[in-house]
Amino acid sequence: MLEEILSELSETKTRLVAVSKTKPSSAIQDMYDSGQRIFGENRVQELCQKYEVLPKDIEWHLIGHLQRNKVKYIAPFVAMIHAVDSVELLREINKQAAKNERIIDCLLQFKIAEEDSKFGLDEEDILPFLRSGEWKELHNITLKGVMGMATFTDDMEQVRKEFKHLKSIFDQLKNELLNNDQFSEISMGMSGDYSIAIEEGSTLVRIGSLLFGKRNYT
Ligand SMILES: *Cc1c(COP(=O)(O)O)cnc(C)c1O
Repeated sequence: MLEEILSELSETKTRLVAVSKTKPSSAIQDMYDSGQRIFGENRVQELCQKYEVLPKDIEWHLIGHLQRNKVKYIAPFVAMIHAVDSVELLREINKQAAKNERIIDCLLQFKIAEEDSKFGLDEEDILPFLRSGEWKELHNITLKGVMGMATFTDDMEQVRKEFKHLKSIFDQLKNELLNNDQFSEISMGMSGDYSIAIEEGSTLVRIGSLLFGKRNYT
C-alpha cells in the first residue's frame, strides 16, 4: 500500500505523514526500512516512547491535540506540530523550543468540519494575533501553514467543500499576513479522503489505517 500511495503522491508536491498511532514500533521500523521517514502520532506519551527506541533520523510529527503542559516532553525532538489551536499553545511551544535551542515547525489547526469539532481555530481567533505581528517575535517556532480535518462522512462533496475552505483560509493568510516562503503547508487528507485533499491543494496527507491496517482504538 505504501508504494501505491507514494506513486500517487509522486505526481504532486504532496508529502506523506505515515500515521502510526497505536501501532507497535516494529511496524514503524518496517516502514522505515522501506524508506518512509515522516511519521505522525497523536499522543505525547506514545510519541516519546517510540522516539526513544526508533532511528533518530525519523521526522516526528505530532498531529493530535496538544496540552500546553505536555509541550516540554516533545520539544527536544519533534519536527512539526500540526494542531496548534491557541496563541497560548504557540507561545509555550516557542518557549520550550528555545530551552532546547531548536526551531519547531507549527501548523494552525482550523475548524472546517460541519460537525461540532472540539478543537481548532476560527479565523477570528487568530487574526488579531497575526495582525499584531507578535508571531515575528517568536523566534523558536516557524509558522509553516494550516491543518484541518473534514467531517467524518461518506458525502465527498461535503468533504471537498471543507478542504476548499481550508485552502481559502491558507490563501487569505498567505496573501494578507504571512507572505513568506516558510508559510507553505496545507495538512489535510486522511485514509478515506486523501485523493480529494490532494486535488484541493494538500501538501501533507496524514494516512494511518490505509497503511497500517485498522486500529483497535484511536
Ligand atoms: C488518526 C489520525 C489520522 C489518520 O487517520 P486514518 O483515517 O487512519 O488515515 C489523521 N489525522 C489525525 C489528526 C489523526 O488523529
